Amino acid sequence: MIPNIIYYEEESLNYTLGKSLYEKYKSAEWVKIENHNNIPELRSNPNCEFARMKQNLVIGIRKTHKYVPNSKTSDFLVPYTSSGCSAMCLYCYLVCNYNKCSYLRLFVNREQMLGKLIKSSNHSSTELTFEIGSNSDLVLENTITGNLEWTIENFGKNERGYITLPTKFDMVDSLLNLEHKGRTIIRMSVNPQEIIKKVEFGTSSLINRVKALNSLKEAGYKIGILVAPVILLENWEALYKELFNILADTLSQKVKNEVFFEVIFMTYSYVHRMINAEAFPNAIDLYNKDIMTGRGRGKYCYNSITRDKGEELLRFEITKHFPKNKIMYVV
Ligand code: SF4
Repeated sequence: MIPNIIYYEEESLNYTLGKSLYEKYKSAEWVKIENHNNIPELRSNPNCEFARMKQNLVIGIRKTHKYVPNSKTSDFLVPYTSSGCSAMCLYCYLVCNYNKCSYLRLFVNREQMLGKLIKSSNHSSTELTFEIGSNSDLVLENTITGNLEWTIENFGKNERGYITLPTKFDMVDSLLNLEHKGRTIIRMSVNPQEIIKKVEFGTSSLINRVKALNSLKEAGYKIGILVAPVILLENWEALYKELFNILADTLSQKVKNEVFFEVIFMTYSYVHRMINAEAFPNAIDLYNKDIMTGRGRGKYCYNSITRDKGEELLRFEITKHFPKNKIMYVV
């Protein structure tokens, strides 16, 4: 990604990462800001500017370091080196938090964040798992910062606890030769290729995600598959059956021996609808009042009859193709 404009907090240039980003993008337009949380000229942009704003980078210092307990595939959600993303999935959960300002923000105080992570890991009597990718896609972020390579090796050296992250990207080559010490779990998010094409703008293709997962397993990483978010388009049954046929045909035996599944149904919202209608007028509308609950300005989920049907099919397909693999949860 070559950013259009880089908004930066002045102090961020005193950090090693801030300095190297400055060198890397010297020729870009740099605009000084007071606070990465509030950039008035971006906030006041209309929704139709959403995609253009995603071409910008924001560089700052993370000040909030509060861990949130979690009970899915980690013990804590950890605010880490970035929030937001330069891809443009129509349902992106970050839009719920950041609205149209869900562009990529990089935080340069990574030594402080990793230090806390290692300390928290060492202070626990049990081995904890920390979800470090709940605010961003760290594989994508890594192509700009190298943060994931740095984190995997340095967390691995401590040899206690685990870090985990989900991704929709295939740029994993630089991760394959790292000394990860089996301390990093990478979960690949998958969807039928038709959904990736129509909904997950700017992300890697299904087949490239599968190849990346096979490579990660070959390199000794712990791995998972997130079927997420499940989107019930008109022909969803055929699409998801086909997805599992492809996974069964293309995942390596090593992946099949170990992989676990998570399944998450899509949550959509009024905010998504408003932004998408103006930013992507030709895209499909993910809102379907006939099968979704929630009205007005809130969040929308599939109604229980539809969702149950979806869950039944997904559990059936996973069990059929991957009978020995665990489904961690379906939500
Ligand atoms: Fe959001 Fe993930 Fe898509 Fe990025 S890749 S836009 S973080 S859902």
